[in-house]
Amino acid sequence: MFSPEPIHRDCLVFDAHCDFLSLSVWDGRGFDRRLNYGHLDLPRLLEGGVNAQMFAIFTLSQRHPTAEHPTLEALRQVEAFHQLPQQSGGRFVVATCAAEIERAKVRGAVAGVLSMEGCEPLAGDINLLRLFYRLGVRCVGLTWNQRNAAADGIAQADARGLTEFGRQVVRTAFELGMLVDVSHLAAPGVADVLQLAEGPVIASHTNAYALCPHPRNLNDAQLEGIARRGGVVCVTFVPAFITPAPEQASLERLLDHVDYIAQRIGTEHIGIGSDFDGYDGVTAGLEDVTHLPALTAGLVQRGYTITAIRNILGGNLLRVFRQVVR
Ligand SMILES: [Zn+2]
Repeated sequence: MFSPEPIHRDCLVFDAHCDFLSLSVWDGRGFDRRLNYGHLDLPRLLEGGVNAQMFAIFTLSQRHPTAEHPTLEALRQVEAFHQLPQQSGGRFVVATCAAEIERAKVRGAVAGVLSMEGCEPLAGDINLLRLFYRLGVRCVGLTWNQRNAAADGIAQADARGLTEFGRQVVRTAFELGMLVDVSHLAAPGVADVLQLAEGPVIASHTNAYALCPHPRNLNDAQLEGIARRGGVVCVTFVPAFITPAPEQASLERLLDHVDYIAQRIGTEHIGIGSDFDGYDGVTAGLEDVTHLPALTAGLVQRGYTITAIRNILGGNLLRVFRQVVR
């Protein structure tokens, strides 16, 4: 067996989802100094060996009852994101393409990629998707849990597929060079995206329904659909999406999802999307981002090849990013 620590440091580690931005806007938490709460900040991202991290714009939290119009909230979070490099001493950079992510790794910096979780900030106007692209957004998730102008989320009763606007979002995202993310999207919408997409799509933070029957997880047909399109399913550390008994969530149970998805669709279609700072509760062994090397150690222990580990930790997501994002 090979030693996991050097492998982890050598691989390009690319996490597809965290919720730091909304929290930083709402409670003013800093980024450049180590916090003793939350799941991540710059010192802990560096310690955890993360080379690229997607930061979601998220405007619908019940934790923030005074939220204003989603477009305004989104703009505040975009600006908060662009301010992150200022106090980082060159250790954090904004990335808008695969080459910038690779350059950041060479320089020992963390690359931040802006994403949008739910199309609420677009207010039904496709030109705002173009604007957010100009502002650096390179991945768009159609919904959170409820209905919006684009589609229905997983908690919407009698969920339908994409609206005409939702179809426009998918087409325009591919035209601009933005990833389309199906996490949180209800099943009819996932089917529509897979039918409509001109290239690979991702699920940025979602596990396997077969192991944990939660509506946020993907069933076998959906996993296969994403793989057929060349996309990536990024496993997530949210306890309730790992096991129906969330108090028993652990790294080992998360690795069960990796094993299952690998058997079903192959290791070329697996990534990681922690959802750090986006959930309550604890997944034992993955308490915060500094524990990420334990995930690599777990993959080594379960017999994955170095190539497979490299792909799962970030290689697959970077491949899709390079294919789609301009
Ligand atoms: Zn989410």
